[in-house]
Amino acid sequence: MTGEEWGQLKQQLLRTVGASNFKNWIEPLELSGASDGVVTFLVPTSFFGNYVSQKYGDQILYHVNTMAPEIRRIHFNVGGDGARRSQAAPRQSADNEKAPAPERDGQMPAAPLDPRFTFENFVVGKPNELAHAAARRVAEGGAVTFNPLFLYGGVGLGKTHLMHAIAWELQTQRPELNVVYLSAEQFMYRFVQALRDRKMMDFKEMFRSVDVLMVDDVQFIAGKESTQEEFFHTFNALVDQNKQIIISGDRAPGEIEHLEERIKSRLQCGLVVDLHPTDYELRLGILQSKMDYYAGQYPGLKMSDGVLEFLAHRISRNVRVLEGALTRLFAFASLVGHEITLELTQDCLADVLRASERHVTVEEIQRQVSDHYNIRLSDMIGPKRVRIFARPRQVAMYLCKQMTSRSLPEIGRRFGGRDHTTVMHGVRRIEELRQTDGQIAEDLELLRRTLEG
Ligand code: ADP
Ligand code: MG
Repeated sequence: MTGEEWGQLKQQLLRTVGASNFKNWIEPLELSGASDGVVTFLVPTSFFGNYVSQKYGDQILYHVNTMAPEIRRIHFNVGGDGARRSQAAPRQSADNEKAPAPERDGQMPAAPLDPRFTFENFVVGKPNELAHAAARRVAEGGAVTFNPLFLYGGVGLGKTHLMHAIAWELQTQRPELNVVYLSAEQFMYRFVQALRDRKMMDFKEMFRSVDVLMVDDVQFIAGKESTQEEFFHTFNALVDQNKQIIISGDRAPGEIEHLEERIKSRLQCGLVVDLHPTDYELRLGILQSKMDYYAGQYPGLKMSDGVLEFLAHRISRNVRVLEGALTRLFAFASLVGHEITLELTQDCLADVLRASERHVTVEEIQRQVSDHYNIRLSDMIGPKRVRIFARPRQVAMYLCKQMTSRSLPEIGRRFGGRDHTTVMHGVRRIEELRQTDGQIAEDLELLRRTLEG
């Protein structure tokens, strides 16, 4: 295949992959040569090659075959634009292999990285600042100070984003390192495949030759015994070699059910940091940071003041939902050709807004209120009637009535089995005090805001 032919093929690829993917992933490919049924491209980094191979390998091969049907495989060699040529050559013993196309070159089975998940695009706020700082630290690729780094938190709070960001950063700053990112599910899949194909030695060797290993959503292997076993050995082998490991999970290591004790304790050995649910400021920051993008995508589309604040206030603490809402809003507004007003927002997102109404529980209220007044939870619920316990108790009852859908008898039951008339009395008392006692009014406001997140 000639450079000219590749030029034509690129034009076809432009149409199939779209302009921005083309610019990011196809344009930088440098045709290096074609022989013996293999076409070779130079790529800047092995990650780049991996990504293109997994995401576009089939499409590229398809188009190549329209002009050069003899080509069976695609190789990606590190050495393209900006690559450090001194870097360890990609392990390409593949020349004498008869693997099916598109060939992955015996490289690590890393998962592709999302190009949007960079540090640059990560908005830092109170709830994620520790996790971010820790991620930044390991992304420097210096001496290993804590191992593993364990990131945990609820869905959509940025765990995967941070892990990809680390990988991107290492990839540019320390291209000589063999950085591997994959989900625990993929780890299991590879493991099972290796077992099936009797390639356990290769599997072990491959994972033990990694410099930085990232395994996302480790809770997935809970309850899967042989995968856990293998994971444990891989983990230990890498730690012994002082290689950095970064793991994410949906909860703290100790709280993952059906995970072997020795793995739990291994996971706790390094630095464990959690991503807290977002707060209002962080949500607003994230929304604002996306506005440049949307302004570019939908030029001319206006947004009224207050819409972002409304969304940050009302939408769930999960960033993915927040992003989805913004995307929907812009798409909808551009269809109807209308400025994005508060009213349009409420219409367009009615279901999302309903779904993310915070469901506060009685227990949360009790905990928050006893924290606030610095009393023990047991004293709030218990029988003591002295004012220092009784007042907070009434405040908590009032908030339960206001913020949950529990009935008075139900609330009474959760306050140490009190009668519903006691609850009613408490609620009324606080209603009165709210009008007359500035301190109580302030307490209520603060508590409500905290509870609403
Ligand atoms: P998790 O892996 O914790 O479930 P993700 O990392 O997939 O969550 O994040 C969900 C979405 O929210 C992604 O699109 C991600 O880019 C975005 N996101 C999460 N946190 C932030 C943040 N702090 N700044 C910008 N985007 C964020
Ligand atoms: Mg994730």
